[in-house]
Amino acid sequence: MNNGRNGSQKNYTLNSLVELAEPEFEVENTSLAVAGEEAQNMAIEGAVRSLLMNLGEDTERDGLLNTPLRVRKMYRELLSGYTTDPVALINNALFEVDYNEMVIVRDIELHSLCEHHMLPFIGKAHVAYIPNGKVLGLSKIPRIVDMFSRRLQVQERLTAQIADFLEETLQPQGVAVVVEAAHMCATMRGVKKANARMVTSTMRGQFREDAELRREFMEHIGRASTQELF
Ligand SMILES: [Zn+2]
Repeated sequence: MNNGRNGSQKNYTLNSLVELAEPEFEVENTSLAVAGEEAQNMAIEGAVRSLLMNLGEDTERDGLLNTPLRVRKMYRELLSGYTTDPVALINNALFEVDYNEMVIVRDIELHSLCEHHMLPFIGKAHVAYIPNGKVLGLSKIPRIVDMFSRRLQVQERLTAQIADFLEETLQPQGVAVVVEAAHMCATMRGVKKANARMVTSTMRGQFREDAELRREFMEHIGRASTQELF
């Protein structure tokens, strides 16, 4: 099975969780990948239990009894993007076409986890490309966004990865990706700017070279001005 383009990040993530689980031991190889999924699951649940306990919680009380299990399943789901097979994902959805107008998919719902706090950031992605003989089935673009969102991310990298993937898959004349998201680590903590949204963009090929084309794209996604993005 193909672990995707960023398979190496998987180990980093699991290592961190395992370290949390067994803070009192010196572990030579902290990855339990070789021991299999069962061992990883136990380590993850142990880590959650340890986290709760050390935050002063009673892990034996009713409401928390199954929390480690639920949290483990949740993280497996929210971080499943590392093991999504990108080849299978676009399988049978690449079409040869004689069409070279802008293709736009806007308002793609996006849920990800920031890698600094493991808290959600939630928003929308807008994706456009100009074909160069090949197009991708429209339903695949939200799935590409999902694949990269379901990882520990920073918004800038997520935006670039979506663009990279489309560039490699379609070799288009241009790719544009804009992501706008609210970060729970910013809205729930510290300065609590509840409405602050972060906007990131990646422009490739013609979108980078041609300001008029960029403006057209921004108008399509409902942003009057490109000033705030560039
Ligand atoms: Zn954060």
